[in-house]
Amino acid sequence: MTASLSDIRRDLALANRLLSNEGVLDAFGHVSARHPENPERFLISVSLAPILVSEDDIVECTLDGRPVEPTERRLYSEGVIHSEIYRARPEVQAVCHHHAPKIMPFCISGEPLVPVSQLGAVIGTEAPFWDSQDEFGDTNLLLTRPEEGASLARALGPHWIVLMRRHGATVVARGVRELFFRTVHSAANAGFQMEAKLLGHVDALTPGEIERASQLRPDPIERHWSYGLARLP
Ligand code: MN
Repeated sequence: MTASLSDIRRDLALANRLLSNEGVLDAFGHVSARHPENPERFLISVSLAPILVSEDDIVECTLDGRPVEPTERRLYSEGVIHSEIYRARPEVQAVCHHHAPKIMPFCISGEPLVPVSQLGAVIGTEAPFWDSQDEFGDTNLLLTRPEEGASLARALGPHWIVLMRRHGATVVARGVRELFFRTVHSAANAGFQMEAKLLGHVDALTPGEIERASQLRPDPIERHWSYGLARLP
């Protein structure tokens, strides 16, 4: 069953608050969803701290990053992260870009992020790195040009999360609620991995475990969504 536009707008506004409440998004970072009827468009808030986003703040954009209805309101400067991933990955229905504190040490050190727990399997078999230096040299580290977004989408490849050196991470999913699940649990896994390393040896899940444990069923995704809602202030 395909979710309706109004369902997606409601869930997207909620996802902004849920991901803020879970410590993934702060004043910055953003979350979007592909338009359910027009795959050449996506929905994203205007430039606001995600915790403040309501449905009225969500605008529809083309894959050129332009709003379909002209607006006086400012858009996020890094919208190309979303548009270029939607262009490159037809099955992706939702995207979150964040700078979560649990993920940042990996982005800074270049230490590979690997699944170390059952839920951490949402990371998948690989969390590739992207470094703006490789193609663009010295920048202000923000992705504002389509070619930068396209480069990030190439680095993401077929995976679910791409770590951006000295910047943050971008997570993708087949739906908004799945995105909430993947984003929260990939960040939690980063915390577990780092803390476990302080204690000693860290074993990643085996490729077979990742394959089996990353098969996401609707039940845990819905339970995690309802848990997140119950935790909202
Ligand atoms: Mn950013």
